[in-house]
Amino acid sequence: MRTPFIAANWKMYKTVHEAVVFVKEFRKLVQDVSDVEIVVAPPFTAVHAVAEAARSSNVGVAGQDLHWEREGAFTGAVSAGMLKEAGAEYVIIGHSERRRLFGETDATVNRKLVAAIGAQLTPIVCIGETLDERERNETLPVLDRQIKQGLDGVHADQIAAMVIAYEPVWAIGTGRNATPAQAGEAHAHIRSRLRQWFGGDAAEQCHIIYGGSVKPDNIRELSSLADVDGALVGGASLDVRSFHEIVTRGRRAAV
Ligand code: PEP
Repeated sequence: MRTPFIAANWKMYKTVHEAVVFVKEFRKLVQDVSDVEIVVAPPFTAVHAVAEAARSSNVGVAGQDLHWEREGAFTGAVSAGMLKEAGAEYVIIGHSERRRLFGETDATVNRKLVAAIGAQLTPIVCIGETLDERERNETLPVLDRQIKQGLDGVHADQIAAMVIAYEPVWAIGTGRNATPAQAGEAHAHIRSRLRQWFGGDAAEQCHIIYGGSVKPDNIRELSSLADVDGALVGGASLDVRSFHEIVTRGRRAAV
């Protein structure tokens, strides 16, 4: 049985101070939640301070991106080892904003994924179609390409331990979320492809979470779907009460 997984993606929001204040309050609110894996992804500048503030709690910390090289002349970039040393245990890879604004491709996602696994960071790999692709009925082929190329060469046991976030690009930050039928179809498709390409154990154990305008009032319905194992939450994770509510309702729905 997969434990629900709920992660906050803070994007380029929150100073170190704001992030630490959030986590100090949030960890108290969720201290009795033992049936959800909870993660927050602050900007790089706050990873270490947040990891310290979350120490000995049930709140894990993720980077929002990484570079695939261990070190080198890559101005502005951060490696898997650096994230790990700063206290992260997870890393988001291939978020649609990285793909759209920073030119990331399935090939770079794959290199980052290999680097994350090598540093024992749990990857949260984002996939999802644009509105144009959905309107052209290309959603499932796009997901196939992103899975095939993004996860190329990764072993079944590594697939089992990772998280895939299905995030329809048209639903991110727009207030428009996928209907249960749309989310259910995409998640079931992703799991069936994992089964086909990586085997039954990998498909059953891999967490497939939903992202795209998740809020306290829609998490319950989304996470009650059979193949939805939790959520990646942007805007609604910036407020401590709202994210706490999402964790609480996501938990109830999923168990
Ligand atoms: C995200 O950033 O991954 C996301 C899903 O954002 P939002 O919840 O704001 O749509």
